[in-house]
Amino acid sequence: MIKDRGGEFMNPYESIQLPNVINAAGKMTYLGSSAVLPEVARTMSESARSFVDMAQLKATVQRKIAAMVEAEAACVTSCAAAGIVVSVAAALTGTDLDKVEALPLIKGGKREVILQKGHAVSFGANLTQMIRMTGAEVKEIGTVNGVKPYHLKGAINEATAAIVYVVSHHAVSSEMLSLREVTDIAALHGIPVIVDAAAEVDLQLYLAQGATAVIYSGHKAIGGPTSGLIIGSKPFMEACWLQEKGYARAMKIGKENIMGLYASLEAYMRLDQQSLTESYANIVDVLQREVTGIPGLSTRTAWDATRPIPRLQLIVGDEAGLTAKQLIGLLEQGTPSIRTRNHLADEGIIQFDPRELRLEEIGQIGTMLRSILDKRKQEA
Ligand SMILES: *Cc1c(COP(=O)(O)O)cnc(C)c1O
Repeated sequence: MIKDRGGEFMNPYESIQLPNVINAAGKMTYLGSSAVLPEVARTMSESARSFVDMAQLKATVQRKIAAMVEAEAACVTSCAAAGIVVSVAAALTGTDLDKVEALPLIKGGKREVILQKGHAVSFGANLTQMIRMTGAEVKEIGTVNGVKPYHLKGAINEATAAIVYVVSHHAVSSEMLSLREVTDIAALHGIPVIVDAAAEVDLQLYLAQGATAVIYSGHKAIGGPTSGLIIGSKPFMEACWLQEKGYARAMKIGKENIMGLYASLEAYMRLDQQSLTESYANIVDVLQREVTGIPGLSTRTAWDATRPIPRLQLIVGDEAGLTAKQLIGLLEQGTPSIRTRNHLADEGIIQFDPRELRLEEIGQIGTMLRSILDKRKQEA
């Protein structure tokens, strides 16, 4: 049901001559992240055509979301990147409006944000820059392949405003401090720990592990429109809300996206992860059968490092007569444009992600692959 666009569907992007995209890349910001559920789209459309007191809307939705995920409080933002800026700003200013309005000039002594070296990632933009935008200084600790508790203890001083912790496939996953190790040390010094869990699926785990605030993308696992969410301690969220009088004004989220995020989250909370994972596995299975037997290509399945997501790996052999990178390019240039997950391309592997792929699109992927490889063979 999650793949259903609802009734007769016209792709509006074709009306401005943009190619139809088959999304086998996952929930990628550069492809528009998630396709919202039909009922979410309806809520958004009706919200966009109505008026509401924005302060009441935010307060109400934030209260309902906090109750849903069993957090003390919540703050809606325009995206997770904005959530990073807002929460770091909150750590710098607290609820002092004078400090909020002064940023990026920091009034007061706390100006340093600690980040493990293996967490200094790019998610398409540089996480470090999102932190530095507030005026804060980033203090990286350890090395890319090793951070120990003494690195963190040694970095904490009177200037420490917060620690940012990244949970992501982008981050180095081994030899970094665990969230528990970080929150235990931070608690001794009363330092807030801000977790960037933008693309993660679990809305309770990181608060349970002692985080002060946890940031999610509304348009990734939650499947909503472009939006973001911070959840966490009430005093910290109060400082986040106040950023609306400062930085968050330049990162505004509209009424229709607030309602879209809320409706998506309601559906997400009702969702049975087990059956969702099974539906993903089914898509991967059907796709595997579709592309098995194409000369030069072999397949296997693989699971995501941190999340319950199966993917099909297409291994491009010498027989194919082209490299994985060339094949990715041809899939992308086709009509429809087929987009895949490409960070293993150098190893000859193209990954197909099931999350935003529809069953009815799988035949087109097979047809396109066969036609590209047949053509290659004739040219050879
Ligand atoms: C996607 C992502 C972001 C940015 O999320 P947006 O909501 O698109 O701004 C930040 N951090 C991580 C780890 C991400 O994966």
